[in-house]
Amino acid sequence: MFRSGFIGIVGSPNAGKSTLLNRMLGKKLAIVSPKPQTTRTRIIGVLNRADCQMIFMDTPGIHRTKTALHESMVESALAAFHEVDLLLVMMDATRADGFETGHLLRHLDGLKKPCILVMNKIDRISKKHLLPAMDACRKKFPFDAILPVSALKGDGVDILLDELKKRLKGGPRLFPEGMETDQSEQSFISELIREKIYHHMNKELPYSAAVTVERLADLPHKNLLVISACIHVETESQKKIFIGRKGRTIKAIGRSARLELERVFEGKVYLELRVRVEKNWGKDAKALRRLGY
Ligand code: GDP
Ligand code: MG
Repeated sequence: MFRSGFIGIVGSPNAGKSTLLNRMLGKKLAIVSPKPQTTRTRIIGVLNRADCQMIFMDTPGIHRTKTALHESMVESALAAFHEVDLLLVMMDATRADGFETGHLLRHLDGLKKPCILVMNKIDRISKKHLLPAMDACRKKFPFDAILPVSALKGDGVDILLDELKKRLKGGPRLFPEGMETDQSEQSFISELIREKIYHHMNKELPYSAAVTVERLADLPHKNLLVISACIHVETESQKKIFIGRKGRTIKAIGRSARLELERVFEGKVYLELRVRVEKNWGKDAKALRRLGY
């Protein structure tokens, strides 16, 4: 039986969600869809196997609830849970101070969705400490499974994937196999910029444009992603139109692309966007290859 479904990943910042996702998908940066499904959840990766398709979703806003604001974030996270078939709650097993998602889980009692707890970073904790920690979690919430993994080293990840698959219902492939995350960061970013071009310009023009990412630098200590991208057009007059009066068009494209990239990458993005004339790029095979066609 072919199985498919949406899997929500929740957990405190630094629990290792991104690391796990990349490990499960076997690729760096598991972003698939630039389009949020709703304002609350978005697809962050699709895993295609011969017998199943797992669609991983991000459900933001799961943090400690100390204030009313946090309460309302939990509310919206809870609403997002209704959109997934199965929940993967992730925690850092080395954090003795504990179970930050505890608050949230109390809200989950009535939800009746399979819920798997992943205790991550077991490469940094001894069995002697791990087993009691797992027990403590089991008492706090009736998880369907509690699985120790090391997202970093890969330990336990295959078992986790099996456990996830087992709990998905029978169903068709919901996304074409080709939508798998072969997409590099670069092509993801250029697709997103192309999408913004379509939003901001007349219908025909964008077809004459290609977007390439010339530079991509991650500065994690600043939580900043620096992107240099280039819009290639065929003629000077197209270039003028892309730039717009006083640069308005290119600024608008850049701004909406940046805002969305910041949401997706969960950090600041510095986006430098230029327009370059590349005569006959449509005809020149070398240019085509460089532009990724
Ligand atoms: P996220 O905020 O939940 O997405 O967490 P990240 O995936 O960004 O990971 C946060 C930090 O924990 C990074 O420095 C990771 O390298 C580290 N990390 C993630 N998984 C593991 C693990 O299994 N073992 C160890 N030792 N470190 C991990
Ligand atoms: Mg992350």
